[in-house]
Amino acid sequence: MKSYVVIGLGRFGSAVAQELMRIGSEVLAIDSDEERVNGVAPFVTHALIGDATDEAVLRSIGVQDFDCVIVAIGENLEHSVLITLALKDLGAKKIVCKARDDTYKRVLEKVGADRVVVPERDMGRRLAQTLNNSNVLDYIELSNTFGLVEMTAPRVWVGQSLLESHIRERFGITVLAAHDQDGSNFVISPPAGYVVKENDVLIVVGRSEDFEKVQKL
Ligand code: ATP
Repeated sequence: MKSYVVIGLGRFGSAVAQELMRIGSEVLAIDSDEERVNGVAPFVTHALIGDATDEAVLRSIGVQDFDCVIVAIGENLEHSVLITLALKDLGAKKIVCKARDDTYKRVLEKVGADRVVVPERDMGRRLAQTLNNSNVLDYIELSNTFGLVEMTAPRVWVGQSLLESHIRERFGITVLAAHDQDGSNFVISPPAGYVVKENDVLIVVGRSEDFEKVQKL
């Protein structure tokens, strides 16, 4: 069983803590706000009221014994930085921070965060991608260049095998999986001979600019 510390119990931190519990992890949740702690306490292994910028608080928890610490404070960069530095000093195994924007992200990476997520930016981009292309159901950015897209198969591909429609050669994208609209008949890594059905949902990986070409089909 993996163990986590979640620092900051706003909407993001609470959601992370509760989802980690749901999938069978152990979670110690901390916030300086008593009300927030009381709100989350029934759903987590331990909940603690405390200021995480106080190194003594982090030391008393034994942060180095947990698999990962999530710093889920979006607004107060100074607090996120102080907490990340203290976590590094105390030997935390893995530190994941939430940042408000790319500037905050860079600062947190510089002071030692192993991973920094920018949820509002990422969700905004995902929504924009789905709105911009009526075929796109969901979009996950993998890097500045690459993305993972869940899309309804374009009509021109229906009735043809992946090989016949030359998806990889013409568009530079790779089909990782296909399934029916309701999520049934999931085919992982479909072979070149897989024939695309009407209303198939395809999960594809490729460059963001290549998805633009598919959009014009
Ligand atoms: P949301 O996830 O709701 O968008 P947010 O990104 O706006 O939240 P903040 O409101 O800045 O994040 O902070 C989230 C939580 O972190 C708050 O409940 C706040 O009390 C808590 N918090 C901030 N600083 C500290 C600290 N030093 N120690 C413990 N908890 C803290």
